[in-house]
Amino acid sequence: MALIVQKYGGSSVGSVERIQSVARRVYKTVQAGNSVVVVVSAMGKTTDGLVKLAHDISLSPNRREMDMLLSTGEQVSIALVSMALQEVGQPAISLTGAQVGITTEAEHTRARILHIATARIERHLNQGKVVVVAGFQGMVSTEDWEITTLGRGGSDTSAVALAAALRADFCEIYTDVPGILTTDPRLVAEAQLLDEITSNEMLELASLGAKVLHPRAVEIARNYGVPLVVRSSWTEEKGTWVISPQPIPRALINLEIARAVDHVEFDTNQAKVSLLRVPDKPGVAAKLFGEIARQNIDVDLIIQSIHDGNTNDIAFTVISSTLNRAEAVASAIAPVLRSDREAHEQAEVIVKQEIAKVSIAGAGMIGRPGVAAKMFATLAEVGVNIQMISTSEVKVSCVIDNADCDRAVAALRHAFEIEQSGSEGAAICSLSSLNAELPLTPNTYADPPTHYNGFVPQFGSNADAQTKGTQASSSVNLLPIPPVRGVALDMNQVRLAIRQVPDRAGMAAKIFGLLAHHNISVDTIIQSQRCRIIDGIPRRDIAFTIARMDTQAAMEILNVAATELGWGEVVLDDAIAKVSIVGGGMVRQPGVAAKMFEALAQHQINIQMIATSEIKISCVVAQEQGVKALQLIHAAFGLAGSEKIQVSV
Ligand code: ASP
Ligand code: MG
Repeated sequence: MALIVQKYGGSSVGSVERIQSVARRVYKTVQAGNSVVVVVSAMGKTTDGLVKLAHDISLSPNRREMDMLLSTGEQVSIALVSMALQEVGQPAISLTGAQVGITTEAEHTRARILHIATARIERHLNQGKVVVVAGFQGMVSTEDWEITTLGRGGSDTSAVALAAALRADFCEIYTDVPGILTTDPRLVAEAQLLDEITSNEMLELASLGAKVLHPRAVEIARNYGVPLVVRSSWTEEKGTWVISPQPIPRALINLEIARAVDHVEFDTNQAKVSLLRVPDKPGVAAKLFGEIARQNIDVDLIIQSIHDGNTNDIAFTVISSTLNRAEAVASAIAPVLRSDREAHEQAEVIVKQEIAKVSIAGAGMIGRPGVAAKMFATLAEVGVNIQMISTSEVKVSCVIDNADCDRAVAALRHAFEIEQSGSEGAAICSLSSLNAELPLTPNTYADPPTHYNGFVPQFGSNADAQTKGTQASSSVNLLPIPPVRGVALDMNQVRLAIRQVPDRAGMAAKIFGLLAHHNISVDTIIQSQRCRIIDGIPRRDIAFTIARMDTQAAMEILNVAATELGWGEVVLDDAIAKVSIVGGGMVRQPGVAAKMFEALAQHQINIQMIATSEIKISCVVAQEQGVKALQLIHAAFGLAGSEKIQVSV
């Protein structure tokens, strides 16, 4: 017997018939021997309707009253679902967030969950009742029991937080799509349903999956190791499991404001190869990394940025022992690239043996731009210059001088309050185990299938389910993680480049600290490899992408600071698209990047910017080529299937 939290979204409870169908599903789950807590959203588009009403009355409605208003939507659903359960003979009781004891921050309309009391729910469960809880809402325990809401889409977060607090066996998110897909089916007809995805991959694919699953819900699932499955409430299909590595044990208090950073990692076993002044035209990255892959050399970070608007710099890191071979490839290719160029500008290869990569990692950094800025500031304080920056949703890595590594790691551990782990070498140097994308043993995962055994996905007899469950268990656990799980397209970013930023410790901290201060999240960050001496100071360009809606604000902030901090022009390109591939299996697997670049090169799509993190590679291309790029890359990795996935959006 398992304890299961089932969450039903707005469309799943959108009508009387749908509510009755939910009640039947819940009833069957209980009949199969499970205890069930149901979390529901407001019916259909109720919340949208309430928001509209508020705006018809006030241009900027009071946030407290907004919470009072919006929380009613879920209250309607819990009562109706509870009644429907009672009608089918299933004892049930509805509870609001406050009645459960879901306490949140005192931040109206965007509160984060602090704690969930479990006693009242457990008492009802023990009496054989299904407990139906209102999603998306909570209360402030300190100030007059105010009602709060968690932000739009927040009932997923309520459900996973409840599952964590109750130590439920797993959490099911029922929605109107069959699960998580390899890409957006509206853009790529061949998109396929995934059987499983890791929570890290899911977080990196936020732009792809956010509509299906609230990123904050994934963050809680990852932090507390809650197995999660996204399924359709219209069918009996298995859906997509979101699996998490065994989490670091943490208390069930301050649930959503847990530490932003869990790990400080470093790797001193890296070397850097830079190619300067390569032509800005399709096929260059494909040629270089195609050859690197043929030599079976594993590449870790790759960055490419444009310099002075006409040639590119490409830099990448490899394991030290392969540096000579990587350099040989780069040197052999440089003249080929050079032949395309004007005689006076030559591609140039520079290698650097003595480098280290330091990273901070943690799901809590999502949506908190201050975390990366704090890393840069910390490095600046101890005088460490940053050579390369790589950012992802849940990790920021900086390439620095090897000699600075110990100092950098100590400062970062101190700044982010990370305990020094006992045995130095073993604990930190095994990067791949810390990345925890690949389970070391099958049960490194907080293991959904073990619990799955008792559960009846197809609602057959228990004995039947037992065997099916066991099969599911071996297949889910032993599948190797593919190099590419999904492909995402983001058309809502723009690129900013700051020219001639003085090359000294602290500049990244300044730039990204300023932006973070104004709550502007930065996505891909790239520093050019080339330095130019102007006014006796070595300078580099720094380029990065931000959300389109932040363009105006960011331009203003950076231009105001330009004189004081001594950098040049801020240049905007707002016609970009970013395509990204994500997959936990690309770690230590040569050739993945090359395949992506080749797919683009074959169709003459120019890559303007490249940035990677361990499990993600992103290319910025011209906006009008974004969709085509997505389709080509999706096909190149063999993600296409013949089954047509119906999605009603
Ligand atoms: N009803 C809320 C909304 O529409 C919460 C949710 O559905 O997750 O945003
Ligand atoms: Mg939703």
